[in-house]
Amino acid sequence: MYPAIIEDYQRPESLQEAVAILSGYEPGDAIFMAGGQSVMQAMKSRMVRPRCVVDLQSIAELKGISSANGLHIGAMTRYVEIAGAVELAGANAALRDAAQHVGDRQVRNRGTIGGSCCWNYVASCMPAVTLGLGAIFHLLDPQGKTRAVQADDFFLGPLETARGDHELLTHLSFETTPRSGSAYKKWGLVTDALPVVGVCLKLSLDAAGRCSAVRMSLSGLPAGAQRAPAGEAALMGSDGSRESVARAMEAVVDSVECHSDKWADAHYRQQLIRTLGQEVAATAFARARGEQ
Ligand SMILES: Cc1cc2nc3c(=O)[nH]c(=O)nc-3n(C[C@H](O)[C@H](O)[C@H](O)COP(=O)(O)OP(=O)(O)OC[C@H]3O[C@@H](n4cnc5c(N)ncnc54)[C@H](O)[C@@H]3O)c2cc1C
Repeated sequence: MYPAIIEDYQRPESLQEAVAILSGYEPGDAIFMAGGQSVMQAMKSRMVRPRCVVDLQSIAELKGISSANGLHIGAMTRYVEIAGAVELAGANAALRDAAQHVGDRQVRNRGTIGGSCCWNYVASCMPAVTLGLGAIFHLLDPQGKTRAVQADDFFLGPLETARGDHELLTHLSFETTPRSGSAYKKWGLVTDALPVVGVCLKLSLDAAGRCSAVRMSLSGLPAGAQRAPAGEAALMGSDGSRESVARAMEAVVDSVECHSDKWADAHYRQQLIRTLGQEVAATAFARARGEQ
């Protein structure tokens, strides 16, 4: 399919210019385009029919990873840059785990962290990972006002976020807590495909090596990116033993809705939660101990 007629294409070079163009249109009549890996398909299928496309790729301020004063990642930072960023270690290593296995090379070379999170597709990896890491989303409106939204409040459900129609996501920020580790792993029918199930875990360890803070999130289930509070509660105080992780993942299985579809039935998805949970826990504990 070809997109419906698009009257205008704009390629602004500053944040202010980008939001000003969008604010000149009714909501939905102009859209931002990042890597185009989701929105181009949506335009071709005419799920979205914008009059104007505002291409963000010439705005330098939206690109790159900075670790001065905490970790900040520009909305237009592509998967390929995140996948190779050595500074994403310990507490934020899950971002690299996810970016290394999103789609194929083309998707990783064009797709962006901001585009993925703003689209918030039901099975996407980055919404679940940024939720699991407790990212903060920074938004700019046409009046020049900025606001920061916690990941727990940003993702409202599949294809829905707290971003206002005229707001631009400028960057995401992340805590860089010591003695912390995170990991993300997914399973799909094809290597690097969208997850049938994915699990993200971030934890901090106390002086005795026990879990003193934890966030866990899931991808691939009907609710989209979601926290797993039952698993988080069960992991508090854990030393990372297989038994304690098994108990935590059983609590997750008992508390989340798993569906059956042509990719996998509900029992298979539950088993994936158990298996992937053990794998991400082993990696996250090792990273928190500084072993990886
Ligand atoms: C073949 C294929 C395989 C894929 N496999 C995976 C996978 O394994 N895992 C996975 O997670 N995803 C996968 N994806 C989806 C991929 O991650 C997309 O890149 C991502 O969903 C969208 O990112 P984008 O930069 O291309 O955004 P776009 O498609 O350009 O934009 C998406 C939406 O976000 C909005 N937007 C973009 N940037 C901003 C901004 N800064 N501020 C406000 N709004 C903004 C746009 O207006 C649009 O509504 C796959 C896609 C394809 C085509």
